[in-house]
Amino acid sequence: MDTAQCTLDGVVYPAVRFRDLPPTEFARKKQYLICTECLAPTYFRKASRSGHAALFYARPHEEGCTLAASKYDQNDIGSGDDQDILNNPGQRIVLDFNFGAHNDKHNDPDANTPNPGGRGGHFIGSGARPDAVMHRRLSKILRNLMESPQFRTSQQILEVAGIGEFSVANFFVPFDAVSQVYERQYRGYWGRIISAQFWENVRLCLNTGGRGSMSIWVPMRFVNELYERFQVSNEKGLIGRYALVLGTLKVSSPTGKKYVEVDDTGYITLR
Ligand SMILES: [Zn+2]
Repeated sequence: MDTAQCTLDGVVYPAVRFRDLPPTEFARKKQYLICTECLAPTYFRKASRSGHAALFYARPHEEGCTLAASKYDQNDIGSGDDQDILNNPGQRIVLDFNFGAHNDKHNDPDANTPNPGGRGGHFIGSGARPDAVMHRRLSKILRNLMESPQFRTSQQILEVAGIGEFSVANFFVPFDAVSQVYERQYRGYWGRIISAQFWENVRLCLNTGGRGSMSIWVPMRFVNELYERFQVSNEKGLIGRYALVLGTLKVSSPTGKKYVEVDDTGYITLR
């Protein structure tokens, strides 16, 4: 896209002008860009050596947004580093739960592999693996889910430590496709967080829609860690982000509320 709106000042910027903002203004405002039509979060990309001009792109646009048809949004997404999963469809993907550098305990490789459901999950992330396997972090998987219909429907094999093997297409379930059918099913549930609110002093509920939609329940003991990891100061900062959570869908009785409770922060990521 050639233009995007900054929600800080309300200005619609042409990409070529946005590039020339003073550095501090540029750094601040680039975090507040939206698509002028569908209001999806939007990113700025500098002109490249390979010759494409500075531009904006949204990942993804809302369904039906006509600006999603722009050249970059259609053809050029997931370039470079993000494209490697799609370029290696024959490789198994092993989920890597070592989510990043923000947490000291993750310097200890033996401490950083959660054990889903306590079912004796085997160790991953050691590097002692055949070449035909790629280890990928949840954040990267989420990015691929958001950007690529090809990935979402892929039959590529995914290995989840201690749980089993799935095809990508079967394992990842968009929030709006979640129904009772998935009750007691361990899956990667993903999509956009629409609202966030605390329930008493017990949990933070990340809601994905109305009452009938699933929610992610974050027990209070994990809330601060989540804020730190995703650099927000309160629950409102999580609204509008995309989330991927691995866990077992439960249905509470008698309300019928569908939810996945986070039992290890290694199993949730946001973008
Ligand atoms: Zn759009």
